[in-house]
Amino acid sequence: MSTLNDLPVVVIGAGPVGLAAAAHLHERDLPFLVLEAGDTPAAAVRQWGHVRVFSPWRYNIDPAARRLLDEAGWVAPDLEALPTGAELADDYLQPLAMVPQLKPHLRYGARVEAISRLGLDRLRTVGRDSTPFLIRLTDGQEVLARTVIDASGTWGTPNVLGSSGLPARGETAVAAHLEHALPDVLGVDRDRFAGRHTLVVGAGHSAANTLLSLAELAESAPGTEVTWAIRTSSPARTYGGGDADALPARGALGSRLRAHVDAGQIRLLTGFAVHALTPTDGRVNVVVRHADGGEEQTTVDRIVAATGFRPDHSIAAELRLDLDPVMGATRALAPLIDPNEHSCGTVPPHGVTELTHPESGYYAVGMKSYGRAPTFLMATGYEQVRSVVAALAGDWAAARDVQLDLPETGVCNSNPDESANADSCCGPAPAAHASGRGLATGISGGLLAAPVSLLVLDAAPADPQTGGLPQV
Ligand SMILES: Cc1cc2nc3c(=O)[nH]c(=O)nc-3n(C[C@H](O)[C@H](O)[C@H](O)COP(=O)(O)OP(=O)(O)OC[C@H]3O[C@@H](n4cnc5c(N)ncnc54)[C@H](O)[C@@H]3O)c2cc1C
Repeated sequence: MSTLNDLPVVVIGAGPVGLAAAAHLHERDLPFLVLEAGDTPAAAVRQWGHVRVFSPWRYNIDPAARRLLDEAGWVAPDLEALPTGAELADDYLQPLAMVPQLKPHLRYGARVEAISRLGLDRLRTVGRDSTPFLIRLTDGQEVLARTVIDASGTWGTPNVLGSSGLPARGETAVAAHLEHALPDVLGVDRDRFAGRHTLVVGAGHSAANTLLSLAELAESAPGTEVTWAIRTSSPARTYGGGDADALPARGALGSRLRAHVDAGQIRLLTGFAVHALTPTDGRVNVVVRHADGGEEQTTVDRIVAATGFRPDHSIAAELRLDLDPVMGATRALAPLIDPNEHSCGTVPPHGVTELTHPESGYYAVGMKSYGRAPTFLMATGYEQVRSVVAALAGDWAAARDVQLDLPETGVCNSNPDESANADSCCGPAPAAHASGRGLATGISGGLLAAPVSLLVLDAAPADPQTGGLPQV
């Protein structure tokens, strides 16, 4: 008679973390199947293929994946070099997906629509833990699994432009003028931006990357204008740690951006909350609401929404998840990564213990595991899947022995003058962290600790009986 353990561990997503999970499952001799929505491995990474990452190769290669690749005669890249997304896909993830130990276990064009337990809805408890997972694909096929490792990322679910977390008024009506994060401004998407006025909304690395590309485009394409809008009153957090950043490429990004803003090549708008968008003569009119209730308008050709990503937990709606109400990560992980709390802290290494939900056997890992926190790094995901897979193999000692070898932060405490300033990148310098305990979150982490001006009610306050709806 077949048992639950005869079924495969199903991994959702063949990105860096899903493929690392597959490599660890192979090493542990556990049957597995990877379901990838795209037609190739690293389908999401390829969409930002033109962007150069800020962590060098040595942090981007999973150790179990490396062992498989070495066996296949792979020539490793220069471990100190910074790959683009395309190089990450072509030189590492594609060859990894092709090794004979993994290739037969990968299915492409397999988008997971929903996950449940066979014959049990979310309400039923008896027999739940010994019942297989039922995974339904968008084409109607169904797969049974012993365990689900959900490494589906967040790339497919970007945040909206509206400052309340809901789409701004008219956001859908101007969809033709809206770009998701990281368009290939200097490559295939050039024509959409050359000679046009683009508004980039957001304060993270994606915004910084796009702004720098637009500034470069403006040098060769006359009429190209660039405006950058942020919620806070200062861009200091985006500029980050400069030379003090533990990942130099990340620091350099901020420094270059600052130079363009200072030189007037990028117009910076602070305290900018998108309220409404209206199509106007082939352009878009953007209405901004200020803290005092006043409004301001600007007209642009294109808007890049570099406002971050959020996890799509809807595929697991029939499972028993215990999600932190703020972050959309597990409750154990959320306080470690909450950007409201951590300005320049480090994320401690974590694994199966922090990733466990009440639904035994379902683990969200990788980018998705961080919910809305913007500070995820691949190396963190590799350690997550090493720990989860060790637990699945019953090796609890290895599962609990979580470690991370990542650069220590120098962003906060090596520039005390700036740190003491409330408008600076990081606020007061934190106590030193134990060596090797985690990763620097100096630029995007802690972003939300910067105060935004809270919007006040209009001069004429909403009617207490109707909350602003018209009287009937
Ligand atoms: C521009 C950019 C730069 C970054 N730079 C760095 C860096 O320098 N260093 C670093 O460590 N990290 C960096 N990151 C963060 C992070 O490490 C990457 O986003 C990484 O790709 C996350 O890996 P992942 O496997 O969790 O998710 P993804 O790479 O997003 O992979 C998820 C996969 O799941 C598939 N999928 C999605 N939904 C489904 C579904 N329903 N069914 C089946 N398959 C599905 C997708 O097609 C995709 O292939 C960067 C991220 C971005 C966007």
